[in-house]
Amino acid sequence: MRYIPQVNKPLWKARAMTGTKKLFVKTYGCQMNVYDSERMAEALGAQGYQQVDSAEGADMILLNTCHIREKAAEKVYSELGRLKPLRAANPDLKIGVAGCVAQAEGEEIMHRQPMVDLVVGPQTYHRLPTMMEALARGEKALDTDFPEEDKFAHLPKGRKARRGPTAFLTVQEGCDKFCSFCVVPYTRGAEVSRPADRLLREARDLIDRGVREITLLGQNVNAYHGAGPDGGEWGLARLIREMATIDGLDRIRFTTSHPNDMDEDLIAAHGDCDKLMPYLHLPVQAGSDKVLKAMNRKHTAEAYLRLIERIRAARPDLHLSGDFIVGFPGETEADFQATLDLVETVGYGTAYSFKYSARPGTPAAERATVDPAEADDRLQRLQALLTRQQRAAQDAMVGRRVSVLFEKPGRMPGQMVGKSEYLHAVHVDGPETLKGQIAPVDTRRQRPELACRAIGGLNGTTCGAAGSRTECGSSR
Ligand code: SAM
Ligand code: SF4
Repeated sequence: MRYIPQVNKPLWKARAMTGTKKLFVKTYGCQMNVYDSERMAEALGAQGYQQVDSAEGADMILLNTCHIREKAAEKVYSELGRLKPLRAANPDLKIGVAGCVAQAEGEEIMHRQPMVDLVVGPQTYHRLPTMMEALARGEKALDTDFPEEDKFAHLPKGRKARRGPTAFLTVQEGCDKFCSFCVVPYTRGAEVSRPADRLLREARDLIDRGVREITLLGQNVNAYHGAGPDGGEWGLARLIREMATIDGLDRIRFTTSHPNDMDEDLIAAHGDCDKLMPYLHLPVQAGSDKVLKAMNRKHTAEAYLRLIERIRAARPDLHLSGDFIVGFPGETEADFQATLDLVETVGYGTAYSFKYSARPGTPAAERATVDPAEADDRLQRLQALLTRQQRAAQDAMVGRRVSVLFEKPGRMPGQMVGKSEYLHAVHVDGPETLKGQIAPVDTRRQRPELACRAIGGLNGTTCGAAGSRTECGSSR
């Protein structure tokens, strides 16, 4: 960790930092960042910071960033530019940058934006309290180490406030796969799995605080191989089965998975573990074996298709989601056609598609890129197909009874919104007391371009678009 001496503040200023202060956290990117933001807010909560919804009037602003695609990093610099007037109006305002952009750019962030007081990488945010002490002394703090210690074990305990019915729980971090386009192995480091007993404890704690659905997270979550309390090594399926025994935990999900880590036990769990929801995000990235090889994915399109068949045999109503990259260096029209063919064969309920973005330091960044206009055109064609499939999947829900976990009020007065087991957003006209309840909802179509409207179960119910999850680098 490095502290960069700045102007020394008088002691009374440092003391003023110990009262109740307002913290605004803005999160970019994937669910893992959402989880990290919660933990950082908890850690700062122990320092007297209370989280607020707006940057205006905050004493500290923390941007938790994502570096997966180029625009994501640029977004952070634009956001810092927008924060300048707030800092000008309040010189005591502290501004921090956390996450993968912090890891990748380090001190460069402070050079480009000298008003930034703190830069902390994804593996060192348990050291935030010490960094905050440096800030209180009028210094800047920068920490982008990959420390030996487990940050989760060293995180200061925050206030155990009541929370909403759904929560993320990071079980695994980092990646050893080194896909040739991806920065994750460099920004998040080597693959590490958290010990199962700590995860089970954290899950029980979440349930005590009102949570009913937990999504297990990892950059490669199905590569999970944590130490089990029995002394053995547990895979993800074993962890899921043990979590499923926790009273009060009704739903379990996991994301994001790599096809090569879908083992037999995990496939079987989709068939025999009732609490594991019938939704799977299983990125394939491309349908051409030539491109998959250049991406260093270490599987073929055929192997992916056979895997999908086996998972669907275990859970026939599985709602499948995926990620795609178009315009990867060397991708020809024929390669792209193979991606469209794969999508046609699989039939996705939801999917996320991206134009290839060269990331400095990754092997693919050295290669000649596809003409940007061509890549744009392919992205549009792929998205048109995926949108058609998504609508078809929503239409298939019409007239079906789904089970909905209600999370919060909807946009319209008197409306509540929740998620079906397939991760469809479902709207009903109902009281706020529905929050945290799981109820059956019969769906019917509301508008042709949306999905469905209820005819039974709960009264006046609508079932909206699927795919409310966030994914690296984009907000959807
Ligand atoms: N571990 C998951 C897997 O192996 O499929 C993916 C996690 S990755 C952090 C999230 C998604 O971002 C990827 O699936 C990929 O589609 C997209 N992505 C990653 N690097 C990218 C790049 N350089 N350009 C465009 N999209 C990228
Ligand atoms: Fe790892 Fe997924 Fe990135 Fe590949 S795409 S390097 S598997 S995080």
